[in-house]
Order: sequence, then C-alpha cells, then structure tokens
Amino acid sequence: MNDTFDLLIRRASIIDGTGATRRPGDIGIRGDRIAAIGDLSHARGVQEIDLGGRVAAPGFIDAHTHDDRALLSSPDMTPKVSQGITTVITGNCGISLAPTPRAVPRPVTPPLNLLDDEGGWFRFERFGDYVQALREQPAATNCALLVGHTTLRVGTMDALDRVATDDEQAQMRALVDDALSSGAIGVSTGLFYETAVAATTEEVIEVCRPLGEHGGIYCTHMRDEADRIVDSLEETFRIGRETHAPVVISHHKLVGQGNYGRSSETLALIEKRMGEQRVCLDCYPYTAGSTILSADRAATSSRVLVTWSKALPQHAGRDLVDIARDMGVDEAEAIKRLDPAGAIYFRMDEGDVQRILRFGPTMIGSDGLPHDTAPHPRLWGAFPRVLGHYGRVLGLFPMETAVHKMTGLTAQNFGLRDRGVLREGAYADLTLFDPDTVGEAATYEHPMAPAHGIDTVIVNGVVVWRNGQGTGARPGRVLTHEAA
Ligand SMILES: [Zn+2]
Repeated sequence: MNDTFDLLIRRASIIDGTGATRRPGDIGIRGDRIAAIGDLSHARGVQEIDLGGRVAAPGFIDAHTHDDRALLSSPDMTPKVSQGITTVITGNCGISLAPTPRAVPRPVTPPLNLLDDEGGWFRFERFGDYVQALREQPAATNCALLVGHTTLRVGTMDALDRVATDDEQAQMRALVDDALSSGAIGVSTGLFYETAVAATTEEVIEVCRPLGEHGGIYCTHMRDEADRIVDSLEETFRIGRETHAPVVISHHKLVGQGNYGRSSETLALIEKRMGEQRVCLDCYPYTAGSTILSADRAATSSRVLVTWSKALPQHAGRDLVDIARDMGVDEAEAIKRLDPAGAIYFRMDEGDVQRILRFGPTMIGSDGLPHDTAPHPRLWGAFPRVLGHYGRVLGLFPMETAVHKMTGLTAQNFGLRDRGVLREGAYADLTLFDPDTVGEAATYEHPMAPAHGIDTVIVNGVVVWRNGQGTGARPGRVLTHEAA
C-alpha cells in the first residue's frame, strides 16, 4: 500500500457533512480526491497540515448566490473562500448572466443590474458560451449554474409588463433546453420582481417543461414573501409537480410586521408537501434582506441602508433617512435621486429567522451581492455566522447539524455527486476551521471582512485559502449532473 499522500491532514476532528457526530482522524488526499480517512499516523504527505484537534469539514456549498459574473471578474472569490465556501450555486432569483440571444438594454434592466450595471458582461449569446468561459478561466471555487427566467424574458420579449406569448414561451423553452444540455442544473425565477411579475404560473410551467426530462431543479424567489406567502408556496409546489422537478424555495422568509411569526405556518405546509413531492429551501442568517432600491420595499422596512447608487455613489453605506435629511427632501424623492441603486431592508423577525434556520431541511445560502459598493454583510459572513453566532453562541443546533446544512444536505438536493461529504473517494473540497473562534467579522457598518477561525480551504485537492490569505490558485470546476 502506498502511504504517501499529496496532502495529509493530521489530527483532525472530522465533521463529515452527513450530520454524524465528529470523530478524530487523519485525512489523506491524492489528486482531487480523498484517498483515505482514519489513523494515518504512519503515512506521509508531500504537504502536511496538523490540525491539533480543530475541525475538518466538507467545503461549504453556498445554495444561493449571485456570483455569475464574480466567477469571471473576481475569480479569486475572496468573499466566498474566506468563509469556507468551495462551491456556489449561481443564477438565482431569475437573474443569470446567460443566455442573452440579443443585447441587454442600457441602462441594464433591474434586477439584472445586480450582476452588472454597465451591461458589458451580458455577452454570452448561448448558455454554453458562458460555461466555456468559466472552463477556460476557472475561479477558485466550483460552481453549479441555474438559468434565470427573467434573463430569458429580457432576451426574448419586447415588453416585460405582460405574459409571454405562445411563441415567446416556446423560444424561452428552447433556451432552457439548450442551457440544460450545456451544463445548467436548473431554472430559477424571480416572480417577485417587476420584470417577471406579469408572468403567469402557466408561463413558468411552459418555460420550465424541459426540467423533467433533464432532471433539472426549479429554484424560486417567490411572487410574495409577505401577506400572500401561502399562495406563493402553493404556486411553487404546483410548478414543481407539473414540470416533474424538485423545487427550492429561495431565501425563505416572512416580510413585514404583520407576518412576523408566520414561519410556524409556512414550515408546517412545507413539511406536509415534502411528503408528497421534492421540496427544498434555503435561508440566510439575518433579519435584513438586500436587493435593488425601491419605494415600496423602503415603506415596509424599519430601516433602509443604501448599498450602491449609480447616480450618487457617495451615499453607499448610508441610512436612507440620513440621506433624505441631508438632501432636504422626503425619502421617496431621495430614492428617485439615487436610482438606480441597491439597499438593505430591515423587515424580518428574529424569531422567524431562527425557526427557519433550525428547521431540519433548511440549507444555508448567502444571497450575497458581490458587486455592491457597501454590501449586505451576508456576502462575507453568512456561513461563519451560522456556525458561530447561531450554532456555538445561541445553541440553535450542534455544529454537526450546522455543517450538514451547508454541505451534505445541499449536495444531495442539487445532485452534486461526491461533494459535500468527507469519505474515501469523494472530491477533496474541505474547510478546516477552529470551532471555538469561527464566526463572522462582517457587520452592517464594516461589511467586507474575512471571517474569524477559517484556517484552510481546499478545492479539488488544491489549497485556495491559508492563514488569512488567498493562495491565488483557481482549481474550480463547473459542476453538472453528468460530471459532478
Ligand atoms: Zn431573491
């Protein structure tokens, strides 16, 4: 037996991603795979890391991101690898960078401008062109890609304030089929947004028809996360049933004071439907959301922080109420002057956030917005906040459960084979961290800061983060159903 490994991790406390209790052991890596786990005290590694009892876990999988462009424009993916993330699911909320069979309008239609407010990155006519670009210039993390319904609408319709015609639906369906054949793992919608709100349930079903045949997944930022959330959940379940696809309820939350506490009701419904069809959900660990700035959303929030403004960039990071006061105008007028812009909205209940996080089937997703000037702290802090604040400090769940929600559970739901678990033969995606200090450093005031306690991050057997710094390595791959 060959007792030499490319990378040998000694004296680890192994949390394997399945939810099982941690156990002591060593991990030997050869090439891009885990070759052995157990007592490897007599083995040697070309490179060795002695953990001294700290944790080795599977690399975290970010179930919900908007990293479509960041993978290409900031391939070191520092906000992600610094918090232990080794795989990102992109293209959420109906917004994907590809395909754009015709030019995206300028200024870029919101919310597509969350990916690129100039528009130059919307350059991939076919989904396969985007996949090829990612393969030619890999990022530090792996990625699994969704194709966005809103992107398809912008690419096929001359007006978005109406339902798509039969012909337009057929065009979008063909684009979905092409994307799923070219490496996409599913479709996302953002029925909440102005650009897709006119789409009927039937439009979505017709566009998503190819999901069943390809084994694709349906992820949705639902039409309503406030008063009509139950209707939106039922719409989501119906789309899943009629397209024969598993559904992911993205960033599950309850918005607005009148809906505080209703997660008891929504989780009971979700659990019931889970007995009848495949349903998954993800959540970020904060009581504030973030997206483009709008008067409607500001009106239902207790506090609004501006994250970026194309018109008045100097106001990024400031409270809307302060900006309006300095301008000597009301908030509605300030919003007009800042537009196009982004914001953080405080409008959720801590009790709901905790109940949803604690719910067994809930995965962790950051929903981070990587191009914002003063981003929501979830971009840099979501995963360590779940481990530290919600796990270790508040005791919402054991660390093994927290890790499962960000690794094994997520890989299983998205069909990422040999990812999200530590076992012989699995891909060597690992995060090594200190369970006593792991936690987020990013705050609303200082949102861009690497997490505490993340020692080393390994992607496909290659170290991408070590001792508080990126290594510059970019071993990330595009993960598909076939070649996961
Ligand atoms: Zn969303």
